[in-house]
Amino acid sequence: MGRTFFVGGNWKCNGTSEEVKKIVSTLNAAQVPSQDVVEVVVSPPFVFLPLVKNELRPDFHVAAQNCWVKKGGAFTGEVSAEMLVNLSIPWVILGHSERRAILGESNEFVGDKVAYAISQGLKVIACVGETLEQRESGSTIDVVAAQTKAIADKVTDWSKVVIAYEPVWAIGTGKVASPAQAQEVHAELRKWLQANVSAEVAASTRIIYGGSVNGANCKELAGQPDIDGFLVGGASLKPEFIDIIKAAEVKKSA
Ligand code: PEP
Repeated sequence: MGRTFFVGGNWKCNGTSEEVKKIVSTLNAAQVPSQDVVEVVVSPPFVFLPLVKNELRPDFHVAAQNCWVKKGGAFTGEVSAEMLVNLSIPWVILGHSERRAILGESNEFVGDKVAYAISQGLKVIACVGETLEQRESGSTIDVVAAQTKAIADKVTDWSKVVIAYEPVWAIGTGKVASPAQAQEVHAELRKWLQANVSAEVAASTRIIYGGSVNGANCKELAGQPDIDGFLVGGASLKPEFIDIIKAAEVKKSA
């Protein structure tokens, strides 16, 4: 299958340059499994991307937290995929629920963004996930399938995509999905890819979990067969992010 474990750190809208330097020096000093065991990507706010890229160890990579849906130009306040490529930023997070909910990004808009970013040479962490209301009404799988379909409708090169399953009710709430809850959705997403894209894409695409992952719960989650890593918010700003990276060892010994 060859799905290298993937751990992303989403720093969201946090940090000063001093704080960012401190996080980077903690990461640089960490002893973690090698790149063939775990791929590590951290995502600072746009303004700190060059600083982090320059100071971060070379075996860790950086991601932007968003980029514009098409070629740059008269779009005040936006950052284009071309600009990220120009700065050699390899990854971008798209479709995060905080942007879907607060800024009204639709499934189609996210699909367009993913396709455009890939067309410019970026790799994408594409986020999907249901709200608490949707989970309680039994529509979790329909919701994540529709979000994934909007991406699949526009994307041909799946080697550039990591899917992050992030239940909205688990993000920043301290309410982590149980390993069984997360595994169920990951397995359904993989089935969806198999039925609607291809068996090869289903087997090779990394599906990572996000939502209140921390140093204490990461190993049990990593032990689930369809969980290929994590997207981490709050805990990615803390030293325990290192423990989350090390959860990759669980897969190696599985
Ligand atoms: C996120 O924002 O992607 C996230 C998973 O946040 P947290 O880990 O804080 O729940």
